[in-house]
Amino acid sequence: MYPQLQINTRKIYENTRDLVKYCHENGVSISGVIKGFNALPVVVNEFIRADCAHIASSRIEQLIEVKKQGLDVCCMLIRLPMYCELENLVKYVDISLNSELSTLELINDLCKKNNKSHGVILMLDLGDLREGFIDESEIINAAIYVEKNLEHIELKGIGTNLGCYGSVRPTIENLSKLVAVANEIEKRIGRKLEIISGGSTSSIPLLLDGKLPKGINNLRIGEGILLNRDLPDLWKVSVLKLHQQTFILKAQIVEIKDKPTYPIGELFIDAFGNLPVYTDRGIRKRAILAVGKQDFAMHEKLIPLLDGIEVIGSSSDHLIIDIENCSEKLNVGDILEFDMYYAPMLYLTASNNVKKVYVDE
Ligand SMILES: *Cc1c(COP(=O)(O)O)cnc(C)c1O
Repeated sequence: MYPQLQINTRKIYENTRDLVKYCHENGVSISGVIKGFNALPVVVNEFIRADCAHIASSRIEQLIEVKKQGLDVCCMLIRLPMYCELENLVKYVDISLNSELSTLELINDLCKKNNKSHGVILMLDLGDLREGFIDESEIINAAIYVEKNLEHIELKGIGTNLGCYGSVRPTIENLSKLVAVANEIEKRIGRKLEIISGGSTSSIPLLLDGKLPKGINNLRIGEGILLNRDLPDLWKVSVLKLHQQTFILKAQIVEIKDKPTYPIGELFIDAFGNLPVYTDRGIRKRAILAVGKQDFAMHEKLIPLLDGIEVIGSSSDHLIIDIENCSEKLNVGDILEFDMYYAPMLYLTASNNVKKVYVDE
């Protein structure tokens, strides 16, 4: 049945294994981030088999599932915990990222009540303006406070996040600041921090260049091992010959017709209340596939695997492609394949309308 998401477990395993090995040789551990594929258990298992140091997600439900499967892995919550999930946090999660002392106080109380301990990484905001202390002395004081006063919390280390809200690129300069703050905390608490977490996939280019500041010993990686598209395509950095085409969308053609490329009539708004720009390219051959925004969210982030195909638009349940330049003779009923960037993986793995098929060829 279609639409179908074909997931290549061998490629994902090899990507993870190869990056874990390379990072290990450079003193860096990898937290495998499972939120991008909605924690599909088969794929989580490949991360574990490939020796990720932690299994990480922004969604606590996904980590609870991992623990409930009885998997013996260290789970890391990489979104700041909500007050309403602290009971579950203490019960199921080993390490969490934090930036609010009020939350840490509550975690400490719950740990005490349940006779548990919980590991914490304090986040430093280096300018991307999402989570984290933005003031260096504030994070240093918070670290000292946690170390001295919150007996049931284990201060594991500090970390940062870049390239998410503010699109800020990880550099020697901003990541050196993270290390400097870590060193100051170490001096003040009189011991080494176990984890200095220097970001996500976007920090891999520095590591490959030998420019990741010394001291950073952890990265939290999802996209780079799952899809390996952002760094080769957008950063022009190739990563250890990692595989692409790990998640492939397969969808069926339901219409092929020659049609004008510019809509006929008075243009108002599309299905989502927007007015896209249409270019008049005359009459061209197009096909409609039975899959839509509800499944992949963004058609611009799909990558056709057949030459001569152009994705031109979509609505909730339809994907429209231009096949004028496709040398292959396409028919209604044919199946077309697409590689993808992050957003379609996120939505397709979550869609109940999309059948998941695992292959290991
Ligand atoms: C999603 C996320 C990551 C992983 O990002 P990728 O680009 O998929 O490697 C790392 N850290 C945090 C805090 C995240 O939210």
